[in-house]
Amino acid sequence: MNCLGHSTPRLSRRTALSAIALGGGASLLSSFMPGVARASGHAEALLLTCMDYRLVDDVTRYMDARGLTNKYDHVILAGASLGALNDKFPTWNEVFWTHIDLAVQLHEVHRVIIIDHKDCGAYKLVLGEASVKDADTELKTHVKQLYALRSQIVTRHPHMEVELGLMALDGTVTQIV
Ligand SMILES: [Zn+2]
Repeated sequence: MNCLGHSTPRLSRRTALSAIALGGGASLLSSFMPGVARASGHAEALLLTCMDYRLVDDVTRYMDARGLTNKYDHVILAGASLGALNDKFPTWNEVFWTHIDLAVQLHEVHRVIIIDHKDCGAYKLVLGEASVKDADTELKTHVKQLYALRSQIVTRHPHMEVELGLMALDGTVTQIV
């Protein structure tokens, strides 16, 4: 399966990859096969998570349990909400905004689900150990960062629904409202 979803007409993998490798992404693919870029169906959400290897299966299980199997786009940035919004790695921020735009354009996404996680190495790296030094401080730091990103998303996409969560290392997710 390729990233444009089930309904994409069959392209040979080599042809699809060379079209993308030429640059221009969706617009090039669109001119290559008219209608493809906008006929890729509808995704329920765009999910943003950290890259942490310990939680890859938990994230999938969580989304499956919510009935969202194969119904969401997935952007992975170290730190999740922090990866999308920080001063240390501005290119990551850009990647996030570009992908929201693409998810809207290609899959009519109207909801963003952001799941940070506890014991996140990116938080220690970018904000320092003190920012997550105990459970209470860690929660407050994540909430502040999640709120900041939600606010930026809604500013750029006023009709976007934004859900926030914090995953523990056992895979349970606390909703942040
Ligand atoms: Zn992490």
